[in-house]
Amino acid sequence: MLAFGSNQGDRAATIRAALEALDAVPGIRIEAVSALYETPALKLTGVDHDAPAYLNAVARIHTALPPHALLDAVNEVENEFGRVREERWGDRTLDIDIVDLDGRESSDDRLTLPHPRAAERAFVLVPWLDVDQDAVLTGHGPVAALAARATDTVTLYVEPPAQGGAS
Ligand code: ADP
Ligand code: MG
Repeated sequence: MLAFGSNQGDRAATIRAALEALDAVPGIRIEAVSALYETPALKLTGVDHDAPAYLNAVARIHTALPPHALLDAVNEVENEFGRVREERWGDRTLDIDIVDLDGRESSDDRLTLPHPRAAERAFVLVPWLDVDQDAVLTGHGPVAALAARATDTVTLYVEPPAQGGAS
């Protein structure tokens, strides 16, 4: 499962473009995508209502790539869409996290699986339920139970109709 977040620029378009770019990578197939959700920005100091809100979504993937090769592909797509890494957890045009990879566990300086903060983030857990109601997060149990316990607020996001066009 991959999780996407964006709080800068055309957030929905960025997430859609990232999904297409990943699906085009040999060895990665996007199998299912959640709805979009809006979430207040979370900084190291806590929720920041003054920062632009995030749009979040998750996607179920099938991949033939080993975990670090998948991370390379994910980092390339983040860079392609202009992510600027200035502060940790700072505003970004695109963040992609590998939430879970077929229950694999890994921990080194580049990659921790499952993602260490997924279990408490409603913006990952709630969209995950869209894709798989019976999902289980390795080491933490059913995603539905985790989502019920998470304290951050997510709101289903309905895209505004495109401007212009037929009149
Ligand atoms: P966060 O995703 O917690 O907001 P960042 O995106 O700034 O934080 O952190 C990126 C770093 O996290 C990358 O350098 C990457 O190597 C590392 N990382 C560790 N585990 C994962 C994972 N499961 N998915 C994505 N990045 C990970
Ligand atoms: Mg990340």
